[in-house]
Amino acid sequence: MLMLTKTDYAAIARDLTYPSKALINGAWVAAKSGATFETCNPADGTVLATLPACQAEDVDAAVASARAAFESGVWSEVHPSARKAILCKLADLIAENLVELAVMEAIDAGKPISDCLGIDVPETANCIRWHAEAQDKLYDQIAPSAPTGLGLIVREPIGVVGAVLPWNFPLMMMAWKIGPALAVGCSVIVKPAEQTSLTALRLAELALEAGVPPGVLNVITGMGPDCGEPLGRHMDVDAITFTGSTEVGRKFLEYAAQSNLKEVCLEMGGKSAAVVLEDAKDIDKIAEIQANAIFWNMGENCTANSRIICHEKHYDALVAAMAAQAAAWQVGDQMDPATQNGPLVSEEHYAKVSGLVETGKAQGGRVVCGGSGAGGLMFQPTVFAEITKDMDIFQQEIFGPVVGITKVASDDEAIALANATAYGLAATLYTADLAKAHRYARKLKAGTVGVNAYSEGEISTPFGGFKASGFGGRDNGIHAHEQYTELKTIWINLEI
Ligand code: NAD
Repeated sequence: MLMLTKTDYAAIARDLTYPSKALINGAWVAAKSGATFETCNPADGTVLATLPACQAEDVDAAVASARAAFESGVWSEVHPSARKAILCKLADLIAENLVELAVMEAIDAGKPISDCLGIDVPETANCIRWHAEAQDKLYDQIAPSAPTGLGLIVREPIGVVGAVLPWNFPLMMMAWKIGPALAVGCSVIVKPAEQTSLTALRLAELALEAGVPPGVLNVITGMGPDCGEPLGRHMDVDAITFTGSTEVGRKFLEYAAQSNLKEVCLEMGGKSAAVVLEDAKDIDKIAEIQANAIFWNMGENCTANSRIICHEKHYDALVAAMAAQAAAWQVGDQMDPATQNGPLVSEEHYAKVSGLVETGKAQGGRVVCGGSGAGGLMFQPTVFAEITKDMDIFQQEIFGPVVGITKVASDDEAIALANATAYGLAATLYTADLAKAHRYARKLKAGTVGVNAYSEGEISTPFGGFKASGFGGRDNGIHAHEQYTELKTIWINLEI
């Protein structure tokens, strides 16, 4: 792909037409109340667009349109290959609009343009296509029975799905939800994060262009308590799929319990650890991998490896190598293709990250690189040494470019410490011993374990968390279809 310059990307951003309405039943609409909110470029606070601040009455309209579309069968009852063709067309349109989507994502979320071009947009298309392609190759089951009966075990689309999204990977998280949900035949109402709603609206526009019928995919913009909560409490929503903080995830369980007991699937926070065992090889390479594992996307990544638990044999070398990696990481204008980290997403989030870094210092952590802001909402890649289990930055999700390194005397102690937080999303393990790799990977309480690599798996493998990181199902892979389908038994008497 031909890379343009930061001036070119800034010019494209200036000339873009940004969405300004919600999408309900295939029509672009304002909030019924007329209320709006602004979405800004976090680099300089420039207002990019004014969006509808949807509330309960708008949620009602979106749910009604999704329900009508679902019950009509226009999407839910067509042949799977027909949905496949339309969703593959959507994937094509995403790829064709790569630069526009990448620029919109970068400017709205502060994400580096080269990541948006190379990862976020291509992975969005890839995800939609993968689920579309899978759909017409899946079979249901027939139960063992006597010849007098026939037991069918079938999966049916669950119905109307509410998808509530975070701001860190706006397009990709939308694809992780709508890819499988639309592929199996559900109707969906997307509630993007208020900080980053633009690309969700543009993606929905492309879905209409691809042929997804009106009402099957709706996008309502607004604040969590005003727009997300009524969706979570709605009596005619069959399932909620949520990615975001553990704090808000818990609320969706309450909303479901207090309304219609809708299905709930939660992908939440993390405090993932990389464990460097005594026999690990090539500490410089490990530091290079772990720099990406924590600093990529400004550390605003649920699987960010914000802890490194390191055997004492490698500790000094690893601390020095991580400090060198952090010092070399390029922080700057998110529209510059050379930039590795842009600004954090908002002032509120910047205050949270810098507050936790100050707490880390006050509690005895030793800063070996970074430790403060880098101008505007940018934060220096930061490495702490001498971090212990009782410190806040060992236990709490920071969601910024900040890693703490902890020294241990044995491999067993390392695994025990890796498991010693409330979270269980991902983990990384370094060892040269295949038997140890298998044994210790099983001991780590995490939904994904990378061995000698930082990994979230691929689109084909299930993604989600143990403990306070996940609830009720998985994103990605065929396993993701389970949260959007109901299992039904049909028993037929063949004697009459
Ligand atoms: P958040 O929980 O603040 O917001 C997520 C969504 O919930 C937003 O759309 C928001 O508007 C909505 N919301 C907020 N309050 C609500 C309420 N009271 N009722 C209903 N909806 C409400 O999370 P965030 O700050 O956008 O994202 C960061 C978090 O997301 C981090 O904790 C991160 O680890 C997590 N995350 C997890 C994964 C994963 O797959 N496990 C992936 C990405 C991000």
